[in-house]
Amino acid sequence: LKGKIITVVGSGLIGRSWAMVFLSGGYKVKIYDNKPGQASGAITEIRKQLEELQQAQMLRGNLSAAEQLSLLSSHDDLQQALEGAFFVQECVFEDLEAKQTVFHEVENLVTESVILSSSTSCLMPSNVFSRVQNRTRCIISHPVNPPYYVRLVELVPHPETLPAVIDVAYSLMTDVGQAPVRLKKEIDGFALNRVQYAIIAESWRLVQDGVISVKDIDLVMSEGLGMRYAFIGPIETMHLNAPEGMEDYLQRYREGMKRVLNAFGPVPDFSGEPAARIIKEICELIPGEHEHLTARRERRDQLLMGLAKLKK
Ligand code: NAD
Repeated sequence: LKGKIITVVGSGLIGRSWAMVFLSGGYKVKIYDNKPGQASGAITEIRKQLEELQQAQMLRGNLSAAEQLSLLSSHDDLQQALEGAFFVQECVFEDLEAKQTVFHEVENLVTESVILSSSTSCLMPSNVFSRVQNRTRCIISHPVNPPYYVRLVELVPHPETLPAVIDVAYSLMTDVGQAPVRLKKEIDGFALNRVQYAIIAESWRLVQDGVISVKDIDLVMSEGLGMRYAFIGPIETMHLNAPEGMEDYLQRYREGMKRVLNAFGPVPDFSGEPAARIIKEICELIPGEHEHLTARRERRDQLLMGLAKLKK
């Protein structure tokens, strides 16, 4: 696959990140945006980031920043951007109609063998690709922000997607150093957000019900569960947490787990008085102004960078 062309449609946060990930693997990347000047602006931004990563010795792949940049071009014309591509990664706004229109337009400009991939976080493949004629070559490749440090990619097929198409997406993601996982069928929220929402819901309920503070529930994750979840998942955790492994774990904890899980409250409303209270509490810890949030995001990315190094 190396040296082949990938077109990135939409050059916002995620489009730029995908471009950097693909470049690191030695792919040629053509980046397109329908807002004039946006794609060329993305190149300036990517150059800055690649040079900083090189300085920090955190650049991914075997190529220098200059070599990676030489593989990148920006386009204000979609047809030109798609020329020669074998894989199209769509990264436009999270708007169903916008995505449907983009894929309809793209399909009319590429040959049958080109793979059409969407970055959507929340939309279902059967909706995103409903205006595509040949849906056997469609797939969702859902990244996690920021993809440069958090390598997971959820591959979610349309009901008609060919296994060979999933295989190519899987190989591509592995080749550029991402960590792909396959969903066997589409489901709302995919896997990552379903698990994330379960955690958010119970954390919210515990704060809402006056059991624990915002600060402390976040510590339960960052100093507790999160410590191991960066390296092992929940199922392996069960397997390791009883002397004789999973069967033993189930025997010991099955009833307790069921009792606690059956006592979980309903889906929170995430609004009204409890929301106001939780907003106030988190803003006392991290004020909602731009500069504070930016500083915390920079801290997060720095720490993720260190963790990514450790995981290598
Ligand atoms: P963004 O707003 O930063 O960027 C969207 C870009 O798409 C803009 O540059 C816009 O000009 C361009 N665009 C809009 N319509 C277009 C069109 N018809 N043709 C070409 N370009 C067009 O958004 P983002 O955060 O980069 O999100 C992009 C996608 O990635 C969304 O589907 C989102 O759900 C998904 N995603 C985002 C995150 C995240 O954390 N931001 C994580 C995973 C997936």
